[in-house]
Amino acid sequence: MLLDRFGRQAVDLRVSLTDRCNLRCTYCMPEQGLAWLGKPELLTDEEIVRLVGLAVRDLGVREVRFTGGEPLLRPGLVGIVAACAALAPRPELSLTTNGVGLAKVAGALREAGLDRVNVSLDTLDAETFHTLTRRHRHQDVLAGLAAAEAAGLIPVKLNTVLMRGVNDREAPDLLAWCLERGYQLRFIEQMPLDAQHGWDRSQMVTAEEILDRLATRFALTPEPTAVRGAAPAERWLVDGGPGTVGVIASVTRPFCRACDRTRLTADGQVRNCLFATGETDLRGALRAGASDAELGELWRAAMWGKKAGAGVDNPEGIDAPQFHQPERPMSAIGG
Ligand code: SAM
Ligand code: SF4
Repeated sequence: MLLDRFGRQAVDLRVSLTDRCNLRCTYCMPEQGLAWLGKPELLTDEEIVRLVGLAVRDLGVREVRFTGGEPLLRPGLVGIVAACAALAPRPELSLTTNGVGLAKVAGALREAGLDRVNVSLDTLDAETFHTLTRRHRHQDVLAGLAAAEAAGLIPVKLNTVLMRGVNDREAPDLLAWCLERGYQLRFIEQMPLDAQHGWDRSQMVTAEEILDRLATRFALTPEPTAVRGAAPAERWLVDGGPGTVGVIASVTRPFCRACDRTRLTADGQVRNCLFATGETDLRGALRAGASDAELGELWRAAMWGKKAGAGVDNPEGIDAPQFHQPERPMSAIGG
């Protein structure tokens, strides 16, 4: 099992399939993109499946989420999903995507064994979408959402980051739109993980502000805390339910104590935390001929070294002036 010295067990594996992306969200990466990883540095499809297999068979991982960069840009995605769905024990399989191109592959992904998708959409307005992502792909994302639903990748979940003065006023409209369609919406506080180091705490739209904005139109009642478990989102029933809304308050209300995540980057590094400053190289060991037992040992050791948290109670935490941003941006770690 993947345990740490604070008694947490990692059962949820985030696998980044690529650091590349076809959007340029302002809170994530600069307009010109980044220096992408070269093909030889990326894990091959077979290497990914071997490591996921090891994680579910020997290390207690039960859920696998594919992310990036933009995971739909990975040519072998459908095959990777199918191979992971054939593992025993079979993990829950999900995908976090910007939705561009999802319309074309939603059916094939479902057939391959994908259980769910999280689609990132920050606005209902095409112009605002362009301001936020620097690309004219709003229609593509809407088509991707509809295709995901039609393919049975349900409940469709949406992730939204609010940026002050850009889309923050849209929060109630976005929620109304999602409730009408049965989509589950979660707002994510903007985190200091952008490549250009442009995050400004004073500009961040906080969970409290998001809830205040929603409360202008909806009655929100907290779901019982027991339901939250290790889920990062705190959820509220909207107008008495059954519709809900979630807020991932990574900065102002961090959930590190209940964290059950482990991460594998596209170039085969294990990270024990989104905010970790160190990594463990599984790719090097794997390509040098390490056995599954040896790789498992490296992975266990990586997780044992996980810090208590990046939260507010940590003097070097994410919301502290001394916070040290990890070298890799979110898009290269896998969000
Ligand atoms: N490209 C895919 C997408 O956008 O869904 C997957 C990768 S993206 C890094 C995963 C999630 O991280 C998205 O929901 C995105 O909005 C979110 N994200 C990116 N940068 C962020 C930041 N600085 N703070 C908070 N969330 C961020
Ligand atoms: Fe791409 Fe996702 Fe980052 Fe936007 S948030 S630039 S879609 S990786």
